[in-house]
Amino acid sequence: MIKLFGEEIKPGMKFFKDLPVSDAKGNSTVLPYYVISGEKDGPVLCVTSGVHGTEYPGVAANLKLYQDIDPKDLAGTVIGCTMCNYEAFAHKTSFVNPLDKKNLNDVFPGNPDGSITEVIATVLLHQLVSCADYHIDMHSGDSIEYLHPYVFYHRNSDRRTEIDEKAHAMARAYALDYIAVTESDGPGASDIGNFYASVSELGIPCIQPEIGGIGLVDEKTRSLHYQGVRNVLDLLGMLRSDAVTTNSGQVELDSFYRLRSGCNGVYNRFVDPGDRFVKGQKLANITDYHGVKELEAFYAEADGVVLWTMAGLATRKNDTLLALGVINGRS
Ligand SMILES: [Zn+2]
Repeated sequence: MIKLFGEEIKPGMKFFKDLPVSDAKGNSTVLPYYVISGEKDGPVLCVTSGVHGTEYPGVAANLKLYQDIDPKDLAGTVIGCTMCNYEAFAHKTSFVNPLDKKNLNDVFPGNPDGSITEVIATVLLHQLVSCADYHIDMHSGDSIEYLHPYVFYHRNSDRRTEIDEKAHAMARAYALDYIAVTESDGPGASDIGNFYASVSELGIPCIQPEIGGIGLVDEKTRSLHYQGVRNVLDLLGMLRSDAVTTNSGQVELDSFYRLRSGCNGVYNRFVDPGDRFVKGQKLANITDYHGVKELEAFYAEADGVVLWTMAGLATRKNDTLLALGVINGRS
């Protein structure tokens, strides 16, 4: 039996509540959380969404999961937070919490004495997910982010391979086209401050699937997240499904990296998310505000696939413009 926010969770319980959270400056918010406690024994899966306020498909899928799962059918417990960044969701704010302008997915493991976003991170990590055996943190592209579906997992710093292997199995079960493994240090893309990396370092296998974007929610992206979680529930033996999906074309990326803008200007993209490219291919450029003079050009460092792009036309120096996966180590 688990205890969540001071409450003993008994078999058969199902409820949705708002947990008040505040910081020392007087900022306050809530974390909408739910519990579905199965009548049979089994593991605890935590499902979170809404770390970024306008990433809607994961939030919609999480709300539907709560509606659909009956404790009678469940072995183990599903706990979740549907809007980890409630203020950003309620105010339709991209990337940051409007109360302190911080990006929740940059501040993990958080700080109980910090500003509101850092307090939220601490509560999510040490009071919610720490009760679980497995964790899924559902993301999408935010309002000006456009992507092809893929899933991250974290490689643990002390090479605890059994945790990495369980996270990898969850990533495969989500059945998206691409799987990217990241590290907090090393040659690949850094995941310092990210929720899934901090959870994984606690010893809890965790994945961050990315589906949809540009502030849009539709049935296709919502159901892809929903089905991914159902696949993982089946994998863990918690909730059997006759409709488990698989993806025979799934690709494990050799590495993942991001390209950033070196100047202000107009961003022109010559590839779309999901497009394959070859080493040396011109992927994008930045021109001056007249669209005449090329200020910077971006070329592929290796063969790979476009996973994510900034969807807007305007760019500022240091903006992330493209996220790319390297395939088969061809370089
Ligand atoms: Zn996100």
